[in-house]
Amino acid sequence: MRTAFLYITPNPKLLMLHITLCPKCNYSVSDPICVKCYLLEMAIWLNEQKVGLDKRAKLMRRIRKNLIYDNFSKQTCILCERNTVSLCTYCFFFNVMYYLKALNFSEEVLESFQEHFNYEIYNIKGLH
Ligand SMILES: [Zn+2]
Ligand SMILES: [Zn+2]
Repeated sequence: MRTAFLYITPNPKLLMLHITLCPKCNYSVSDPICVKCYLLEMAIWLNEQKVGLDKRAKLMRRIRKNLIYDNFSKQTCILCERNTVSLCTYCFFFNVMYYLKALNFSEEVLESFQEHFNYEIYNIKGLH
C-alpha cells in the first residue's frame, strides 16, 4: 500500500527511495530517515517516560551499537539532510521494541512506545 502510494508521488526525492535497501530486511527503505534522527525522537519520548537514567543509557547504547551502519548508503536523511540512512523504519522500531522487552521496560512504557511511534500499525499492516 505504501509502495503504491510512493509510485504515484511526483516528488523525485521519494522516487529515489527504491534504490536504498535495508541491510536488515533487504526491502527498500521507504522512509529515508537516519538513525540519529530516530534517536532524537526516541530521546524526546524517553524523557516523558518514568524510566531510570541507567536503563535509558543501556537502551541508547544498545541502539547505537547495533543499529547504526555507517556509510551504508548514499541516501541522505530527509529530516536532517546530513547523515546517511542505515535501515528502514520498520527494522529500527522492531529492534528497539525488542530491546525494550529485553531490558525489562514496563508494559506502560511499551504501550507508550507503540502509541508514539505507531509501531503497531507497521506490525499489523506490514510496512513492506
Ligand atoms: Zn528493514
Ligand atoms: Zn537525519
